[in-house]
Parts: sequence; C-alpha cells; structure tokens
Amino acid sequence: MRIDVVTIFPGYLAPLREALLGRAIDAGLISVAVHDLRTWTHDVHQAVDDAPYGGGPGMVMRPQVWGEALDAVVGDVPSGEAPPRLIVPTPAGRPFTQAMAHEYAAESRLVFACGRYEGIDQRVIDDAATWMPVDEVSIGDYVLVGGEVAVLAIVEAVARLLPGVLGNPASAEQDSFSDGLLEGPAYTRPETWRGRAVPDVLRSGNHGAIARWRRDRALERTAARRPDLLAALPPTALDRADRAL
Ligand code: SAM
Repeated sequence: MRIDVVTIFPGYLAPLREALLGRAIDAGLISVAVHDLRTWTHDVHQAVDDAPYGGGPGMVMRPQVWGEALDAVVGDVPSGEAPPRLIVPTPAGRPFTQAMAHEYAAESRLVFACGRYEGIDQRVIDDAATWMPVDEVSIGDYVLVGGEVAVLAIVEAVARLLPGVLGNPASAEQDSFSDGLLEGPAYTRPETWRGRAVPDVLRSGNHGAIARWRRDRALERTAARRPDLLAALPPTALDRADRAL
C-alpha cells in the first residue's frame, strides 16, 4: 500500500516510521511519503491560510495551494487504474470505525490531507470528489488542532490489517469490534499478583470453556460500556448461551 500525507508539519508524522509501521515500511509492505504543503505556495511568506468569507474567528486553508498540492501528489493516474482514495480528517466527518479500517486496508493507495486552523476551503474537497473517492473522516467527538494526529490513528488502524504487518494475524481477528463486541480482559503470568488471581478457567486447558468464558466477558463488557454496539448486533450474532447470560 502507498500512503501520501500532505501537511504543514511534516515532522508531526515522524511516528509513522516507528515500531510496527516502521518495520512494515522496511519490509516493503507499505510506502509512506510525507509532503510539505508549503511546497506549493508562491508567495514569500508561504501563506497557506486566509480570513474566512462571512467573517468569524480563525483562518481557513486556501484552495489554490491545496489544489496544486493534490494535483501534484496524486499525479496522473494511468488509464485503467483507480485513483487513490483521499481522506480528509475533520471533526465534521463520518466517524472512523474498524469497518472503515478494513475498507481502507483493501485500497492500494491512500492520500491524506491534514487541515489546520478552521479547516480546508470546502471547494478543495468538492473539486477532488469529481476525480477521486473522497472521505471526510472524524476520529471522535472532540476537536484537535490539526489532522496529523488523526492521520496517525487511521494509518495505524489500517496498516495492522495488511497481510504480513502483524506477527500473528489471528490477533487482529480476535480484537474488539471484529465480532461486533469489545474484547474482554486479558491476563498473563504470574498466576497471582498483589493477591489477585487469574480466573481459574484460563488455566484449565479446557478450550471450549475458555472460549465460552471469553465470550461471556466480552458480552458483559460491551453491555456495560457500549450498549450501542450490542443493540446493533443482528439477532443471528447471538447464540443460545449468549442470550442466557
Ligand atoms: N472548525 C472545525 C470544526 O469545527 O469542524 C475544526 C477545525 S480543527 C481546529 C483543525 C483541523 O484539525 C481540522 O481541519 C482537522 O484536520 C483536524 N481535526 C480536529 N478534530 C478532528 C477530529 N475529531 N477528527 C479528525 N480530524 C480532526
């Protein structure tokens, strides 16, 4: 997968080259290019923002510089090839979910446009949508100062789903949201720590009982913390033992 990020703070994206993502880049599973938006400015101050039409506080990112940046970064898409998907982080976007991470993991190329200030002139997004798929995406109901942290979150969620990135692909399959539930608690050695013992069933070696225990804890946790997820499960997703809980 190829990932391009356009930002006024390229250094903010340095963590993309750390840990799991860094290893995926080294292994050739992902390629990442971070572009400084100011490359496409033409004035001495390299201005990327201007006052909002209609008045009000803050500044808005200028369309000319973003238009040129996206034209250059996306480049000419060879005929017969699909254009990349443009992802524009914004608190006013569609909430990012694990299902979307799976959708993005199936793409060969993603381009991210990091907003700052009051965001990017809307015409940039509307214009881009005429020549490539565009998603305005929120990572949660709160307001960050820029799109860079959102890009780090989205790229990490997507990259760990790519074949070969996780050491053990089964861990992604068992994570929270894969079956519509939150994952239950996890334990490791020692057997007892500060007087707290690991649940007996996890040391029983009875795989059926362990699976049932994990499923029950996942159901309980989801009901307590995210009843919305439980309510959204199709009735067929619950077995008889689930309903008896
Ligand atoms: N005026 C915008 C609004 O109220 O919707 C907020 C702009 S915010 C201060 C600046 C930039 O941070 C946005 O353009 C976006 O790139 C990023 N951002 C802030 N919160 C975000 C969130 N929850 N999800 C994704 N991106 C976010």
